[in-house]
Amino acid sequence: MSNSSKCSEEQSPRYPFLDLAAVNAPCAGRLAEAACRVIESGRYIGGEEVEAFEGELAALAGTDCAVGTGNGYDALRLILRAWVEMGRLQPGDEVIVPAHTFIASVLAVSDASLVPVPVDADPLTMNLDTSLVEAALTSRTRAIMPVHLYGRVCWDDTLASLAASRGLLVVEDCAQAIGARSAVAGLSGSCRAGALGHASAISFYPTKNVGALGDAGAVLTSDRELAATVRALANYGSDRRYHNIYAGVNSRLDPIQAAMLRVKLSCVAEENAARFARAMAYERTICRADLVRPLMSDSVTDCVWHQYVVRFTGPSRDLFRRRLLEAGVATDVHYPVPPHLQPCYARRQLARTPLPVAESICRQAVSLPIAGALTVADTAAIARIINDLEI
Ligand SMILES: *Cc1c(COP(=O)(O)O)cnc(C)c1O
Repeated sequence: MSNSSKCSEEQSPRYPFLDLAAVNAPCAGRLAEAACRVIESGRYIGGEEVEAFEGELAALAGTDCAVGTGNGYDALRLILRAWVEMGRLQPGDEVIVPAHTFIASVLAVSDASLVPVPVDADPLTMNLDTSLVEAALTSRTRAIMPVHLYGRVCWDDTLASLAASRGLLVVEDCAQAIGARSAVAGLSGSCRAGALGHASAISFYPTKNVGALGDAGAVLTSDRELAATVRALANYGSDRRYHNIYAGVNSRLDPIQAAMLRVKLSCVAEENAARFARAMAYERTICRADLVRPLMSDSVTDCVWHQYVVRFTGPSRDLFRRRLLEAGVATDVHYPVPPHLQPCYARRQLARTPLPVAESICRQAVSLPIAGALTVADTAAIARIINDLEI
């Protein structure tokens, strides 16, 4: 291979990690029609499009209410802020969070003047290790935030019974797990991710399984008082025009994104099924002594494969990724640094106990392509490239 062809391959690999144009190509016509509908409506904040989307989302998740927000981070922040306004949480209360997550989960807690308490990950699922939660509870613990990381539901009997017996509020970070289902029923009997606890936050960031064409998010809950408080907080804290009961923020779902999301939401089952098929192809084909595959399940829904994350146990993850890119496969890392080791938390000493599993996942994780135009044959081809890689 000449240097010049190698160089162009690095700029545009045969298998890109994620090509968002390819993700949206199958529904581009419907997206354009929906955008035209909004442009012609003259309604660019709130209105029918947002209301219709909220209804469709709540129906999918199995909650009584859905409230559109500007993004997924705001959805998390607004839930916690609403509980503070409602007197269900007090500043300084502790919230259990997974040590291994995207930092937004943790930032949302500290942003609401609450104290995030990270609990280590389960090496098998890479989610919160629920067996460690009880030991992390103190007299100040008031809430717990399961994060369904990489699309895998984080919910079991241990969490359900702890939450119920200790009266803990449960806020799900459902940003990566739209359409997933739990094997164990949630607090109100539903098995759907987003309806397992008291409230949940969804993100429609463009890379998520249901992605907007910009920023968007939503709060899901069957607690009507909470939904009304979130809706007011997200609209300057006003319950009616020019009447502000809270010092709120502006975080609304745009009708144009609601219209895009109504198109995307109608394909969520197909999207999640396609991701499952690709994960199965990786599971069947990848075989390397220095690579740990993610836990596979035979259910199509307890993991919706937002990411397919392998753990590289060899000496240099960087070298492994570089060699893969040279062989035409782009990868990513979710996430290289756990929140408790980020500079923004350096002075707060978030970690109360060692968090070795989360730290080792961050050193070893490699996300393989799982979305977009990738066929099952492509996925198997990527797996064979991985198997043949010499490093
Ligand atoms: C994407 C994501 C968020 C934040 O969502 P935004 O819409 O980007 O603000 C929060 N938590 C997790 C786990 C996420 O993956």
